[in-house]
Amino acid sequence: MILPKANRLNSEQLSEVSAIVADFDCTLQPIVGAVRTIYAIVGDERDDLMVNRIEGLAYIERVDRIQSPHKLMDRRSDLASHSIKLGAVTLGQELLIIAGQCTIDPKNPTLFYETAQAVKEAGAHALRGGVWKPRTNPYSFQGDAKSLDILMEAHSRTGLPVDAEVMDETQLHLALEAGVHMIQVGARNALNYSLLTAIGKAIAGRSTLVLLKRSIHLGSVNEFISAAEYIVSYGNPNVMLCPRGTSPTLEGYRNHPDESITPLLKEKTWAPVIVDPSHSVGRAVYVPSCALAAVAYGADGLCIESHVKPAQGIGDDPKQALTPEVLASTIRQAKNLWASLHA
Ligand code: PEP
Ligand code: MN
Repeated sequence: MILPKANRLNSEQLSEVSAIVADFDCTLQPIVGAVRTIYAIVGDERDDLMVNRIEGLAYIERVDRIQSPHKLMDRRSDLASHSIKLGAVTLGQELLIIAGQCTIDPKNPTLFYETAQAVKEAGAHALRGGVWKPRTNPYSFQGDAKSLDILMEAHSRTGLPVDAEVMDETQLHLALEAGVHMIQVGARNALNYSLLTAIGKAIAGRSTLVLLKRSIHLGSVNEFISAAEYIVSYGNPNVMLCPRGTSPTLEGYRNHPDESITPLLKEKTWAPVIVDPSHSVGRAVYVPSCALAAVAYGADGLCIESHVKPAQGIGDDPKQALTPEVLASTIRQAKNLWASLHA
């Protein structure tokens, strides 16, 4: 829908705009109001270049698109009936719980095996474990490819599907070859379109899932959904959106908790929303209430950092990880809340 600055386009302006839309196989349909005339674009109006050319005209106020820019992720897409499964869980039928360590310590695999067993007993359906880590400080532990074997061993021991973040194509292919079930795109790479494209291509034809975090810096709802569209456009629709707090922070928390974005996402897209309360608030003591708030806002799942001995953990674990006992009570309350909201 094209809105001119004046009450209507003059005939010269009308022919200029008509010529632009014709270049994109569209036509114009004036909608004459009592005071103002606006112009519907008839045809596929999703091409950004067409919109940019029209909005670049000095006499145009703006173009409002009726069609969604993310045609596959849109709630009205045929993909809306696609159901995503992870292990025994079908998203939407029960609350999905992913839990495990922020970071696998390659020097201490036993701790990870114990964590894996403990999160399973606490009620988690999938196990997370950081193999390669995006660290703000270049001198912090950056992860180790050896941890991939530890992650897969924990999968064999517990039967839980596993999730790990990849930051580049080499890591992506190593993770897929090892059999990682869910590829995590971190908040720092959430808008790395080359990586999103590489993931989309690499998982096409596989049952792999992707957990796409929200970018750190207050990314808009549409930007978030469009990032998922990059992956899904190559044919595998198993993408889940993961709000994890944004920057600037709410003083006292690690980030600004953003579980409240969930209903806004759900209005626009069919994709499941899995909230990560751990990175959102950044301290174990605040994680349970953030997790419950996420469920109240309509989240389909939670991704929670947990460790058998947080004080012996590395990465975020000493600060953020829930002990298995607190994880178990959080999961129990979250599942009860989910069930009461979906009864
Ligand atoms: C993580 O999951 O440990 C992590 C680094 O997450 P994020 O990308 O959300 O910071
Ligand atoms: Mn972490």
